[in-house]
Amino acid sequence: MICPYCGYNDSRVLDTRDTGRTIRRRRECRRCGKRFTTYEQVALSVSVVKRDGRREPFDREKILQGLRIASAKRPISADALERIVDQVEEYVFSQGKAEIPSKVIGNLVLEHLRQVDPVAYIRFATVYLQLPDLDAVRQEIDRLISSS
Ligand SMILES: [Zn+2]
Repeated sequence: MICPYCGYNDSRVLDTRDTGRTIRRRRECRRCGKRFTTYEQVALSVSVVKRDGRREPFDREKILQGLRIASAKRPISADALERIVDQVEEYVFSQGKAEIPSKVIGNLVLEHLRQVDPVAYIRFATVYLQLPDLDAVRQEIDRLISSS
């Protein structure tokens, strides 16, 4: 923990208080002796509720994997994919809920992907939205063209 006064990175803990979701610590800098308070947030886990009602832990690697497949041979950088997952992850954890439907996550991914690459978007949508036939795919493409 870095001292906010002098930037030194070692401090003595004077007092620890567990307030449920946050842990508050009163610290004293070992260099300048000033006191400051830090708060540690307990990391929450979020379960994804799938279509069939099963739950699994939120897994950013899984989303990234789906995005990599959808964007194969498309001009999308690995960074751009990471950014999409970052935004989705940030949204998921900012909700403060223990569970989130997989549909919400999928739609969020689609929303971001649509802005990055339309072809990857259609590939992802075909799998993710389980578009049953070419008509459904065409409708999705029409929707995409008319909204751009
Ligand atoms: Zn200090």
